[in-house]
Amino acid sequence: MATRVIPPRILKKLRYNTTTKPLNAAHPSISPVIAPPSLFERSPSPVADAVSTTSTTMETANLNLDDAERLFASVSTEKLLRSSAVLHATAVGPMVDLGMWLMKSPVFQTGLPKDLIMAATKETFFSHFCAGEDAAAAGRSISALKEAGLRGMLVYGVEDAHENDGCDRNLKGFLHTVDVSKSLPPSSVSFVIVKITAICPMTLLERMSDLLRWQQKDPSFVLPWKQDSLPIFAESSPLYHTQKRPEPLTPEEESDLQLANQRLLELCQRCEEANMPLLVDAEHTTVQPAIDYFTYSSSIRHNKDDNPIVFGTIQTYLKDAKERLLLTTKAAEKMGVPLGFKLVRGAYMSTESKLAESFGYASPIHNTIQETHNCFNGCSSFLLEKIANGPGSISVVLATHNIESGKLAAAKAYELGVGKVNHKLEFAQLYGMSEALSFGLSNAGFQVSKYMPFGPVDMVMPYLLRRAEENRGLLAASGFDRQLMRKELGRRLKAAMF
Ligand SMILES: Cc1cc2nc3c(=O)[nH]c(=O)nc-3n(C[C@H](O)[C@H](O)[C@H](O)COP(=O)(O)OP(=O)(O)OC[C@H]3O[C@@H](n4cnc5c(N)ncnc54)[C@H](O)[C@@H]3O)c2cc1C
Repeated sequence: MATRVIPPRILKKLRYNTTTKPLNAAHPSISPVIAPPSLFERSPSPVADAVSTTSTTMETANLNLDDAERLFASVSTEKLLRSSAVLHATAVGPMVDLGMWLMKSPVFQTGLPKDLIMAATKETFFSHFCAGEDAAAAGRSISALKEAGLRGMLVYGVEDAHENDGCDRNLKGFLHTVDVSKSLPPSSVSFVIVKITAICPMTLLERMSDLLRWQQKDPSFVLPWKQDSLPIFAESSPLYHTQKRPEPLTPEEESDLQLANQRLLELCQRCEEANMPLLVDAEHTTVQPAIDYFTYSSSIRHNKDDNPIVFGTIQTYLKDAKERLLLTTKAAEKMGVPLGFKLVRGAYMSTESKLAESFGYASPIHNTIQETHNCFNGCSSFLLEKIANGPGSISVVLATHNIESGKLAAAKAYELGVGKVNHKLEFAQLYGMSEALSFGLSNAGFQVSKYMPFGPVDMVMPYLLRRAEENRGLLAASGFDRQLMRKELGRRLKAAMF
């Protein structure tokens, strides 16, 4: 078992060493944003200083998530109080229902009621789960995160687009996000996130997915628009969405596809210039084949020299996830293409089950939650081993709030000698969620990012609520954090009194 005890001074240097190429290697700073006092403001605490010196010993075999004082050392009491209150509120199912109802109700769409709701939301849920109303504000939140030892993934919080005009507008937002990331302190932004459904019309993604599925059923079916890609389906992949042979793309659809290709190309090129990895989110299976197609064809084009620019997402709640991961990595290895993956469990459980049922098929999601856990942990081990043993062609983001998966992956990475100094592994949690796990992993010496949506309140809140609706279990499962926060708040209160 490899044991690493690296002097803090050296690790500090390694962290920003541009020659070792982290997931996002350092880029020149254009106009650093000065962080105002904010949520992740570092409180003057002797424990925080102790953390910064002891955190570098890669004590990952024993990920310490019990010491609330140490975990929240960099979080101000004000922030801790608000986080605790917001997490308690969102853990109550009816609160999410109320939020959905308020956002949809015509009464709250205009005038004073709308202003009141937006103002209340902004000060509470929005500022807890979102990085700010624009890229500059998000930049300030990122700077504050950096002070606390974490990094940020910038998520321009837009909804799906249905027309080319909307796609063009969204592209501008994504490009601006890359530019802002470039202007922030080196390595403080780990990724810029893109939703392909925001830069390619949904109906086209559905049509492409149908055509790709039919080609999987019938390999002689020719798709003239298809560029070099990697395997998108495995033997076990569900194809029930496409019941009959689809018509080829019309000239108008082909022209829309050209435009979508150009948008993605422009975004990838901007990321390449900035040396900023682009992480493609995964969506539901109706459109995921087209998203994977775009991801892998861009990976072939832009991922070079052991430095992936384009990262895809694997949803391990899907029964075919592991098989697809094996096929794709094998094909990429053969072609010499470095790949990057974000591993998640998946956020569209109810949509997937209902859709499969409507076709009379079994859900594509594992029958039990334990099988999903096993799949996530199995894929995570597989990728960590690839990083440790392979020729350096794989990078991975383990995006999870699951404590057990975090502990298992940390122990495995420790055992394999894969850690912060390796720069091929990043852990990630949503902004405002699982702070204990994020700080614990960071204290143990790993790179940890928060997934940070930003945008105007009325644009981002519907986006967040829709995700909250699908992910009720996630919000309700914040109990571990809430308990630790209560403990730390109690300790601080006692310390202030005596
Ligand atoms: C940084 C980041 C990026 C993300 N990006 C994406 C993305 O691009 N696409 C996407 O789809 N999701 C994404 N997610 C959300 C993610 O997929 C999960 O919904 C969420 O993180 C909860 O899973 P967890 O790993 O945190 O584990 P846990 O907290 O353990 O969550 C377990 C949840 O898994 C669900 N579940 C899965 N399989 C089963 C099953 N067989 N039976 C019952 N319940 C089951 C349940 O809802 C349960 O609440 C992202 C999450 C993070 C942190």
